[in-house]
Amino acid sequence: MGLIDIGCNLMHSSFDKDRKAVIQNAINAGVSSLIITGTGEKSSAQALTFAAQYNESFPGTLYATAGVHPHEARFCGDGTISALKELAQEHRAVAIGECGLDYNRDFSPRNIQRKWFEKQIELAAELWLPLFLHERDASEDFIAILKNSAGKIKGAVVHCFTGNESELDIYLALGCYIGLTGWICDERRGTHLINAVKKIPGDRLMLETDAPFILPRDLPFKVKNRRNEPRYLPHIANAIARFQGKEEDRLAAEIFENTKRFFGI
Ligand SMILES: [Zn+2]
Repeated sequence: MGLIDIGCNLMHSSFDKDRKAVIQNAINAGVSSLIITGTGEKSSAQALTFAAQYNESFPGTLYATAGVHPHEARFCGDGTISALKELAQEHRAVAIGECGLDYNRDFSPRNIQRKWFEKQIELAAELWLPLFLHERDASEDFIAILKNSAGKIKGAVVHCFTGNESELDIYLALGCYIGLTGWICDERRGTHLINAVKKIPGDRLMLETDAPFILPRDLPFKVKNRRNEPRYLPHIANAIARFQGKEEDRLAAEIFENTKRFFGI
């Protein structure tokens, strides 16, 4: 047993010089598997290739998702879904995503974001793979689209959840799992998120670092370049256990079982 980092941007250029050491450090810290987030056609392909190569020596360590992030939706075209379909059927592919809506930055026009989000949901339904979802400042449209797909998809995890209790209630009612990052380790984010975190049932929770982003703010040491790494995942598990008043080992065991079941790993 161990912890599984369900969202790690391991192919990010900040890991180019020491990617394998980063994985080894995570394993040494008790992280048994990592799921690399695919954010576009190219990054999903790279992640899957890297995972397959790495697992030849260390089976069961790396997995990846295949999908297009809403920021990248503007680059999608005729061949996108067939390319993702091929990638998603590779051995190490465990989910479609990350996909969803991001109205915070609006890098892609909103109607384009919605179109490719819906197409990726259809693909997940067709391949019977779970969805790895991204939502930022777009909960109304995001929830409406998810409601339309109710009953058609295998499962969904809302990654890097930063919402409030009412959004949480809707996601839980829709059967979604909730991915928590080190975002929760920052008291400046306000009590609305902590109150929501307290309410997430153990059997709907998953853990992620979103490395190299979202370095937990309350680490008890300084981190060079503020690069987040999967080895800090136990710190996030510890924070959740504290907020929920649960014993850390029991919570970790419960999350481990959810994660294995959800991704089929
Ligand atoms: Zn995201």
